Amino acid sequence: MLITDIVKILTDAGIEQNEANIEVKMLIEHFAGYGIADIIMGTKLDEEKLKIVEQKAKLRASTRQPVQYIIGEADFMGEKFIVNPSVLIPRDETEILVRKTVEIVKENHFKTVLDLGTGSGCIACMVAKLTNATVIGADISFEAIETAFKNMENLKLFNRALFRKSDLFSMIREDEKFDVIVSNPPYIPPSMKKNIQKEVRFEPETALFTKDEKGLEFYEKIIKDAPKYLNENGYLLFELGINESFEVAQIMKNTGFKNIQIVKDLANIDRVIFGNI
Ligand code: GLN
Repeated sequence: MLITDIVKILTDAGIEQNEANIEVKMLIEHFAGYGIADIIMGTKLDEEKLKIVEQKAKLRASTRQPVQYIIGEADFMGEKFIVNPSVLIPRDETEILVRKTVEIVKENHFKTVLDLGTGSGCIACMVAKLTNATVIGADISFEAIETAFKNMENLKLFNRALFRKSDLFSMIREDEKFDVIVSNPPYIPPSMKKNIQKEVRFEPETALFTKDEKGLEFYEKIIKDAPKYLNENGYLLFELGINESFEVAQIMKNTGFKNIQIVKDLANIDRVIFGNI
């Protein structure tokens, strides 16, 4: 069995060549424990371990579930996060949201952050890791909170990243004020369900889709209540879905947010919006 044969299992299933190469590298690293040092040393991969990798590639090819769910981990900002079908797999674009949040927290010497819809806890954990702030991650899903908690433990962020089961602000007291509220909420309109990739169908629907056709449901709900939970001059930051920046900016302005700014991603798409109260 050659590594190229394993790559072919994936390309035969319609997975693009570059993606297949990356995924096989991930599978070999995880299931055969073969890392960069082994590549440099030219260590031979043993057949038995390669068999396991082959089986996992076959599982990936036949089910089309994301390789991160098969491995049980995803890379985000240089860290490994536990993932499972109860949480979204962290996307590279979300790093833009984390970086902006970290910048704002540091510049203003902020101390408290609330991450709504924390999922795997990737935003909450990275903001806690890269600043001195304490971050509360809230999620409606108990399984997500359990996953986020494990990620917090792995990153040793005890007492720095805390997690709470809460439907948006439902379990946040009004006297618990925050310097920053951040969220990467569900933002895909339901009409897009039929167009999404096979892999995305394994991710939790509640993390991806809104009920309204504009994809604005969660922005509207969060913006409406955020002023009650923000300290004076506190910031609100969101990740944005495609073509949603104009309307989200409008809702933020109408609710009294100022200095609204947008950050684009590498594909020149408006990806992050933020402003302060
Ligand atoms: N906060 C998590 C992330 O950015 C989950 C977001 C979500 O489920 N909508 O990956």
